[in-house]
Amino acid sequence: MPFVNGMLVQSSSSQPFVASLMTLLAKMFPNDILKLGGKVDRTTAQGTFSFHSEGRAIDIYLDAFEPVDLALGDVLFSTFHGNYDALKVDHVIWNGKIWSRDTMKVGPRIGGPHRDHVHVAFVKKGLAVNAQSATALFVIAVHRYRGSSALAAERYDGLWGTAYDPKDKTRRQSPAARRAIRDDKRPNI
Ligand SMILES: [Zn+2]
Repeated sequence: MPFVNGMLVQSSSSQPFVASLMTLLAKMFPNDILKLGGKVDRTTAQGTFSFHSEGRAIDIYLDAFEPVDLALGDVLFSTFHGNYDALKVDHVIWNGKIWSRDTMKVGPRIGGPHRDHVHVAFVKKGLAVNAQSATALFVIAVHRYRGSSALAAERYDGLWGTAYDPKDKTRRQSPAARRAIRDDKRPNI
């Protein structure tokens, strides 16, 4: 399985831009994202066409029930729909909300609420994005996320270790294990 700096990134067979964006996300949020999913030959849970089957979608695994993950998911959700033109976004779903080109607004997600990952899908035509402008947008996202709380900043900076369990990178590292890493790094707190 492919990894980027240790994180599971299932980018093989995705569209080139989609694969490069997955690598960018893994490099920019190495301690916050659990894993990244990409091309999968399947329909949606409702049996309809899935952008994943064409390698035009990314699943960014975060836990909406965990406050710091929720903050990052919200930043990514708004980064994608706020820059839909630059990032060629077709639709994005997170934590009971969906934005799509069809409606051009955020509304309630009917069906799977997506509380364990941000799903973002990209347009079918003209899917090529300037790598520098994509990077610039996610640098802004990093600042917004890092500034959302002291804990987000600590976690972003690596004091709490990785979101994934180093022994099984498909699984989330337990809160107790992450706390132990932090206590080890900052024994006086
Ligand atoms: Zn998805």
